[in-house]
Amino acid sequence: MANAHERVFSGVQPTGNLHLGNYLGAIKRFVELQDRFECLYCVVDLHAITVWQDPAELKKSIREVAAAFLAAGVDGTKHIVFNQSQVSAHAELAWIFNCVARLGWLNRMTQFKEKAGKDRENASVGLYAYPNLMAADILAYRATHVPVGEDQKQHLELARDIAQKFNNDFSKSIADLGLAEKFFPQPEPLIAGPATRVMSLRDGARKMSKSEPSDASRINLTDDADQIAAKIRKAKTDPLPLPETVEEMKTRPEADNLIGIYAALADSDAAAVIAQFGGQQFSQFKQALVDLTVSKLAPITAEMKRLVADPGHIDQVLGSGAERAEAIAGETMNHVKDIVGFVRR
Ligand code: ATP
Ligand code: MG
Repeated sequence: MANAHERVFSGVQPTGNLHLGNYLGAIKRFVELQDRFECLYCVVDLHAITVWQDPAELKKSIREVAAAFLAAGVDGTKHIVFNQSQVSAHAELAWIFNCVARLGWLNRMTQFKEKAGKDRENASVGLYAYPNLMAADILAYRATHVPVGEDQKQHLELARDIAQKFNNDFSKSIADLGLAEKFFPQPEPLIAGPATRVMSLRDGARKMSKSEPSDASRINLTDDADQIAAKIRKAKTDPLPLPETVEEMKTRPEADNLIGIYAALADSDAAAVIAQFGGQQFSQFKQALVDLTVSKLAPITAEMKRLVADPGHIDQVLGSGAERAEAIAGETMNHVKDIVGFVRR
């Protein structure tokens, strides 16, 4: 079992269209960490509303992400599965972090630049402050390990900077209260394996994403076998046979992506996939990839369907998770309020 101070936290936004990148980069890893750590897995609905969400769709998406966690093998009894808005500490600590983080730090965040696009003046303030809320999600539980995809690396680094600045700014108060000098730990990103950045099936330079308009760009966790087969067959490739060395993959982004997906689904690595398929035509490899993807995703998709049909059960899992999460985060918040110098009841 984990050391007493080790704790995993991660989240997925309920923004619709859960995809293979979310599964391989995050959810599959969540499952694998359960034996070694105490884990909190959160449906981050406060993050979702940084861009417009239709209220009825949002509710559906929250339950769908929770269902995906459970269907993939997250244990909501041994660990904690909940939605962010049910635990007020996230928003409260985020405000305090808004006052710790510097504008210059947030101005460097590439996700904001990508998501706000050209019309930056019209982006929500929430989208800009998103990384501070993410730091609060993690640090409210004083989590030490955060499994995420490669795209979240920069936000994790910001969370570490916020933790350090808080500890420094308030070092005297922390000492006066008799608390550990490193009140907030430095959360470690867990970004590893062959599929930390799954790319679009239509464009090897863009990440597979929920918010990408083209459905053909991603494999959704709700796709059936025919849809998966059609999307993989149509996936963009170059005209050459499969690379014969790992080195060669570096200059061939589409091949690199499909090989990475295969390796991650097979719990293998790129070198082993190349040893098996290197030099073959893409058509052959794509058929093997279709078979593997369907065999791995179909049971998850079926279980998600079953769970989503019983929203009462999902709401009960989320409610029980939120109660247990609140107990941990509440303790952190009590300390934080004392550290900052607020008068309390
Ligand atoms: P959105 O476009 O709404 O931001 P998203 O697809 O990026 O959606 P998130 O909910 O933001 O999904 O991210 C959930 C988790 O999935 C994060 O850990 C993120 O790093 C990971 N993730 C997202 N896209 C990919 C990808 N293409 N490859 C690997 N991991 C990914
Ligand atoms: Mg994202």
